[in-house]
Amino acid sequence: MGGGITRTQALVIGGGATGVGIARDLAMRGVSVVLLERKSLGSGATGHCHCLLHSGARYAITDPGAAAECAEENAIIRRIAPYCIEDTGGIFVAISAAEERYGYDLLHAAERTHMPTEEASAATCRALEPSLTRETRMGVRVRDASVDPLALVAATAASARAAGADLRADSEVVKIRREGDSVRGVEVRDLTRGETYEIEADIVVNAAGPWAGRVAALAGVEVPVTPNAGVLVALARRVVSTVVHRCRPPSDGDIIVPLGDAAILGTTSRPAPTLDDIEVNEWEIEAVVAPAIEVVPIVVTTPRARAFAGARPLFGKALQDGRKASRGFAILDHARLHGVRGFLSVAGGKLTIHRLMAEHAADAVCSYLGVGVQAECRTAVEELPPLPPASEASSRADGALRLA
Ligand SMILES: Cc1cc2nc3c(=O)[nH]c(=O)nc-3n(C[C@H](O)[C@H](O)[C@H](O)COP(=O)(O)OP(=O)(O)OC[C@H]3O[C@@H](n4cnc5c(N)ncnc54)[C@H](O)[C@@H]3O)c2cc1C
Repeated sequence: MGGGITRTQALVIGGGATGVGIARDLAMRGVSVVLLERKSLGSGATGHCHCLLHSGARYAITDPGAAAECAEENAIIRRIAPYCIEDTGGIFVAISAAEERYGYDLLHAAERTHMPTEEASAATCRALEPSLTRETRMGVRVRDASVDPLALVAATAASARAAGADLRADSEVVKIRREGDSVRGVEVRDLTRGETYEIEADIVVNAAGPWAGRVAALAGVEVPVTPNAGVLVALARRVVSTVVHRCRPPSDGDIIVPLGDAAILGTTSRPAPTLDDIEVNEWEIEAVVAPAIEVVPIVVTTPRARAFAGARPLFGKALQDGRKASRGFAILDHARLHGVRGFLSVAGGKLTIHRLMAEHAADAVCSYLGVGVQAECRTAVEELPPLPPASEASSRADGALRLA
């Protein structure tokens, strides 16, 4: 039998930013919690993302609600996790008349959501970011930052453990045990020992990101999460020092994020038929690199370190164009939706808003458990601990973001 306790109040499935955030939040509220991750912490969508701590501007025109959430959480993550982010700022760069018009639409939309933005002349843009093309016509400055997602997960995990959470990697949930209309616990396969054991729980939280539909099926319920694949290309040099966006509606290859000594170009959007080892096609790499060259010409001669892909956990039924799906999230209470008690699913969202998603999930858990007024969320105010150099997520994740 796997080590540790076999009974807990809350059991979280999935050790991405969201699941680890939920475990931290619950443990800080005094709830006993076990988290099970089938691989290593941060090895899912979290470790295969673009590393952009969104200002919200990317969604200001199309999804003002998601934009406002990003803006608020951006400020909180800067405050609680200063060691995990780099305050690069961001610029939306216009290189055509149509893009210039989009820039002014963006400024107006940002004003409506009270998001700090600033118009920048072509000269200011090129002074800030000398690698920008001479075709630059204007820009919109925003409060983006780059974030190391593996460091963020490792720091969140350290804080969760310090508060009493039991986080287990290499532990795959293979069954969700139901008695009538109530979920009672899970069956876990310990992948290092090759053993299976059971854990009883008062409530189980499905935080499996793009795998959320598969995990929900183990409990016999449906969760409308559509996995959507995105390809990213890591350059071996930091060609920009500011996050550079193309000033146009979201499309392929419109963002360049500086990260340490590297830069990440991205991304694409297509249905993800598989969730592990997503294939990266040559045409997808070109779809990311070619638009980046238009705005930062030096990309053409910069060596590429690697190309990789991740699956976004988009909330909602399959859409032809994943870019039109909301970046919002929902906490699904399966008692209300399907008559199955003791089971919640977290659907959708982004890395930038993972803490908020965790707060809402933890609120729902506490309300189910009947934990009283002392169960107040403190994750927005308590800083994460600084990391030891070789942290668990950083050293054990599959290397998607380890670019050296
Ligand atoms: C290409 C791409 C670029 C992105 N760029 C950004 C960005 O720049 N900024 C941003 O804010 N967001 C970005 N996102 C979105 C962001 O990465 C995700 O929304 C977020 O990381 C999801 O975290 P999560 O914890 O919900 O899911 P995940 O990180 O996927 O975690 C779910 C975990 O569940 C585990 N699991 C699955 N099944 C089981 C099981 N049966 N038992 C145990 N464990 C299980 C998986 O192994 C996985 O580790 C991007 C996503 C992609 C794909």
